[in-house]
Amino acid sequence: MSELRKDPILGRWVIVAEERAKRPEDFKIPPVVAKGSANCPFCEGNEGITPPEIMALRSAQSKPNGPGWQVRVVSNKFPVLKIEGNLDKRGKGIYDRMNGIGAHEVIIETPQHLTSMSTLPEEHIQNIILVYRERMLDLKKDGRFHFGLIFKNVGDIAGASLEHSHSQIVATPIVPIRINQEMTGAKAFYDYRGRCIFCDIIAQELDEGERIVIDDEHFVAFMPFASRFPFEIWIVPKQHLTHFENIPQSLIPSLAHILKKVLTKGEKALNHPPYNLLVHTTPFDVKTTEYYHWHIEIIPRITRVAGFEWGTGFYINPVPPENAAAFLREANNL
Ligand SMILES: [Zn+2]
Ligand SMILES: [Zn+2]
Ligand SMILES: [Zn+2]
Repeated sequence: MSELRKDPILGRWVIVAEERAKRPEDFKIPPVVAKGSANCPFCEGNEGITPPEIMALRSAQSKPNGPGWQVRVVSNKFPVLKIEGNLDKRGKGIYDRMNGIGAHEVIIETPQHLTSMSTLPEEHIQNIILVYRERMLDLKKDGRFHFGLIFKNVGDIAGASLEHSHSQIVATPIVPIRINQEMTGAKAFYDYRGRCIFCDIIAQELDEGERIVIDDEHFVAFMPFASRFPFEIWIVPKQHLTHFENIPQSLIPSLAHILKKVLTKGEKALNHPPYNLLVHTTPFDVKTTEYYHWHIEIIPRITRVAGFEWGTGFYINPVPPENAAAFLREANNL
């Protein structure tokens, strides 16, 4: 069983995954399992190689753990946190630890061996979003979990071990520090101005326009003013929405549309870069709704985080977001 340990200086939790502890030579990055579907556990027909399914969108005649599905959710075969057991929080002196309870699920986005979500039809992406929503609502019911992160790792540098298009959800027994930091900043702004900072950012970005990539009725995709990475893009609902899992049905087609468009543009303009996609949303048990606003962050992994960044928390971004946004915006046919 893995263990969570809290850094007594920063308050940041680290997952120490004992079962993954290996010899130093095991830390070489393994090659992504690629090409051809014979060995791919996510391809239709290979359901027997994955852990049993948690849910699936499948045809009425088909049977669980067999072919006939569109989107399928299974437990991660190598979970960073385990679902079984009670939370056991302990402290000794200045050190706090907790057993590694949580959920780690894989959302297999398509039965075909496709490597990018952007190649799927919009209606199919809508189904993936529906599955995200359903899994988050279900995990939220488990009182042991305080936060759920939906994310994608695409490409080996971004942490993917299988190229077949998939997403993951990890539910954690604590609220991660990054979310706490965003919420603390947003709360301070709200206490001072009485408004949601994300709503204000959207308004200013739409007004200035230079960092906008796509602006449609319900969502805006833009490069943040202080982007850490070249071509970092955020997708934010224009309505003040706090919990991703409460996304109204009427917005799901719009989200699928903008997601497909943003991913396609990025892939064409940057020649299929590795990237991470993550959904930042309000912690499950936080009801306060005035100041935090869910959003998607997409981070192409085209620069490396090195000593200066590790040492300072500064990021060096060689491409101003205004230029990057203009590049993607003006590439009309992308
Ligand atoms: Zn596959
Ligand atoms: Zn807002
Ligand atoms: Zn965020």
